[in-house]
Amino acid sequence: MQPMELHLDDRFRTEVTADKNMENSRRQVLDACFSYVSPQKTSKPKLLHAAPEMLAAIGLTEEMGRTKEFRDIVTGNALIPDSHPYAMCYGGHQFGNWAGQLGDGRAINLGEVVHEQQRWALQLKGAGETPYSRTADGLAVLRSSIREYLCSEAMHHLGIPTTRALSLSLTGDKVLRDVLYNGNPAYEPGAIVCRAAASFIRFGNFEIQTARENKALLQQLADHSIRHFYPEIKSSGKEKYLEFFQAVRDKTIDMIVHWQRVGFVHGVMNTDNMSILGLTIDYGPYGWLENYDPSWTPNTTDAQHRRYRFGNQPYIGLWNLFKLANALFPLVEEVAPLQSILEAYNPLFDEAYLAMMKNKLGITQVAHEDAELIQRLEETLTLVEVDMTLFFRLLARVEKKDTPTRALNKLQTAFYQWNNLNQEAAKHWNNWLTRYLKRLQTETQNDAERSAAMDRVNPKYVLRNYMAQMAIEQASSGSYELIDELFRLLKKPYDEQPSQEKWFAKRPEWARHKVGCSMLSCSS
Ligand code: AMP
Ligand code: MG
Repeated sequence: MQPMELHLDDRFRTEVTADKNMENSRRQVLDACFSYVSPQKTSKPKLLHAAPEMLAAIGLTEEMGRTKEFRDIVTGNALIPDSHPYAMCYGGHQFGNWAGQLGDGRAINLGEVVHEQQRWALQLKGAGETPYSRTADGLAVLRSSIREYLCSEAMHHLGIPTTRALSLSLTGDKVLRDVLYNGNPAYEPGAIVCRAAASFIRFGNFEIQTARENKALLQQLADHSIRHFYPEIKSSGKEKYLEFFQAVRDKTIDMIVHWQRVGFVHGVMNTDNMSILGLTIDYGPYGWLENYDPSWTPNTTDAQHRRYRFGNQPYIGLWNLFKLANALFPLVEEVAPLQSILEAYNPLFDEAYLAMMKNKLGITQVAHEDAELIQRLEETLTLVEVDMTLFFRLLARVEKKDTPTRALNKLQTAFYQWNNLNQEAAKHWNNWLTRYLKRLQTETQNDAERSAAMDRVNPKYVLRNYMAQMAIEQASSGSYELIDELFRLLKKPYDEQPSQEKWFAKRPEWARHKVGCSMLSCSS
């Protein structure tokens, strides 16, 4: 076997200012963008899963992924040669309020691995405390690590911009958590996900420097981000930062339109959880819509105001960009151009959303009633519980020659209480399907072409909350087969997988009000 070699080429660490204080003590880190810190050793590291695609991406074989050397690196027990691990300084607005310094409190960057001209910053989540750990322990538990590991890769295979996951490991140490924040702390297995992305820079990295009136560091971060991640920007001066802001706006829109397409609810869209590259980042109390309900949020911490509910994600994207505009202001010093980039957010979002929804419906022709047809569908979907994933997948089986009744029957399994479908709802469904079928008559695509196209945007398999929970419960009793089964299933979310039909099903009743399925806390 070839020796395991990872080629590090750290740009972030070498281009922006480091904290001069080398002590791993909790503090306000002023005048720096990151702090050097070493991962904590763990008592009995055990690799549970490694993603073959990510191993290959960083230049490793699956065999190398099974070595002790690899295991030790991804659990923080050994360092990649020439690695200088560090934690980033960032701030953020949490649930609408400025929270001051946050930073990588339990994430440690190992460095940037370069393989075949692709660059992957590797980060250990849960590898011990850093100067940014505030009052917490810097650790992560198995349940939240399984959720992050599986969902990162599932999102990637759905074609959604996201940070990736390389590995999932147990540390062998116990971690104390009060899952429901109700005074019942208990020990849980500690775990580490090694995640990967071109960059983990967040809106919050910029916000903290502006809050501290440190324009030099703000500019360093912006110049670094533009140079490496937005190389198409060739302007200079203010114009350069405006183009950067506009590009981040566009990537943010793209990401959120994807979330709405598949029914993904991030759950904690704080500005510290917003990637400057438009990647889905920080998988915490996220969830997937089962019955279509725009007011749903998986995050119990947000149960009262539902700020981060499914239907509010587009607006929060704009709200967060507004905070980024404020953070970039010192580099632009003019309100109007930033304002106009923000003002274009809603029309651009609406346009992208309309195009996305038309794809979901298999409609290619333009008609003045497009937006209304979609709005009516969204209203109709909320009348009685209808499973979003099942609905769109089954809708592709509807044919031009169908009557509305026949079409509705084809959608039957998407309804949670089909047998109790009330007359009012049945009437509205009938109306909408009549309209949809009429619309299909104007389509040039035949049924087979349309359904194939719809199946490419309407996933058959998503990581429903109860599925992740089943993998977690099985793992807690020492079996890890389901992690692998779901990992494989979700690599091909748009394909028919006849042997896996059991996962193409509504949420089981037992999961309706269960912790971990319909209710998740930030405790992780
Ligand atoms: P999150 O809600 O996971 O995005 O985290 C918000 C902030 O809290 C970030 O700065 C995290 O690094 C920090 N944080 C979350 N959990 C822990 C933990 N167990 N130990 C230290 N810091 C944490
Ligand atoms: Mg976070």
